[in-house]
Amino acid sequence: MGHEQIVFCQDPYTGLKAIIGIHNTVLGPALGGTRMWAYASEAEALTDVLRLSRGMTYKAAISGLNLGGGKAVIIGDARTLKSEALMRRFGAFVDSLGGKYITAEDVGMTTKDMEYINMETDHVVGIPETLGGGGDPSPVTAYGVYMGMKASAKMAYGSEDLGGKYVLVQGAGNVGGYLVNHLVEEGAKVMIADIFQDRIDRVISQNPSVEVVDPNNIFSLKMDIYAPCALGATLNDDSISKLSCQIIAGAANNQLAQEEVHGKMLLDRGIVYAPDFLINAGGLINCYSELEGYNRDRAMQQAENIYDTTLTVLNESSKSNKPSYQIANEMAEARIEKMAQIHRSL
Ligand code: NAD
Repeated sequence: MGHEQIVFCQDPYTGLKAIIGIHNTVLGPALGGTRMWAYASEAEALTDVLRLSRGMTYKAAISGLNLGGGKAVIIGDARTLKSEALMRRFGAFVDSLGGKYITAEDVGMTTKDMEYINMETDHVVGIPETLGGGGDPSPVTAYGVYMGMKASAKMAYGSEDLGGKYVLVQGAGNVGGYLVNHLVEEGAKVMIADIFQDRIDRVISQNPSVEVVDPNNIFSLKMDIYAPCALGATLNDDSISKLSCQIIAGAANNQLAQEEVHGKMLLDRGIVYAPDFLINAGGLINCYSELEGYNRDRAMQQAENIYDTTLTVLNESSKSNKPSYQIANEMAEARIEKMAQIHRSL
């Protein structure tokens, strides 16, 4: 996958086994979260870190950020293996890279873990507001998704207005909840699905007009827009054959079960698909803002640019009859290549 550097970290005293993947640093330091997971094997952990760090390169590049792509995985059960010593040892490994890799929170990690890592290295972002960081990135992510959805509406309907559109938000979590607020405010007819009642209750208490639907039966519902804000890989043979929406725009990572197959399938069915890594980049934008001295207004402004980029990608996809994810990938690669050239000529 063209990675620059893979670092295997091991410490017998704390039981730490971690892999840091640095995919590309042409645009800037490699930034991406640390995931703690009970991988079945080191090979599985390696595959995950390679794939995830590469994805971060594309997300940063398409978002116009001066960041490269990186990610780290700690191998082990987050419920049993964690300790202050292990997290601090990991922080020391991150520090040893001298800022080439900047870490953040991901699956299996908590704010407390990030505080321990931060005791050993300054190369950490996504830390709480109380510690001078940007805090919860979800409102910025949700705003970026909302902008991507409006650009998709402009493409599909000729107007960015979401008023009166039936939007299904799958996942009433952090991002889903903030996204619903924007949609309701604009007059969309919002439906929500989640597997946990408390998540639903939280959204409904803020927006009583939202309709609750069965999470096990969402794809055949009549809707204009499907917003996946729960898990990845929801766009597969089965769901795409059932979906009758005109637009798919949501926050979940890796929505296409198989990029090539399902990206093409959506194009052939005439469904406007806003690439996930482009419209959910608000979280990364929020982290980037921390590096410059955190400013929420500036992060929100940058997330607003997602509207223009999405529209450019969708227009190009329609003109060239290529899947939108492919256009976004090509734009990201072109930016990296151009910046590599100017650095070579400096
Ligand atoms: P979250 O855990 O707060 O919310 C996810 C919600 O989805 C939960 O309420 C969960 O119960 C629900 N869910 C799980 N399986 C479901 C199913 N089968 N049907 C319906 N609901 C289901 O997570 P979040 O922070 O809101 O993130 C949502 C998605 O967006 C994730 O895929 C995440 O990786 C991605 N994302 C989040 C951010 C961010 O800033 N939080 C940034 C980029 C991408």
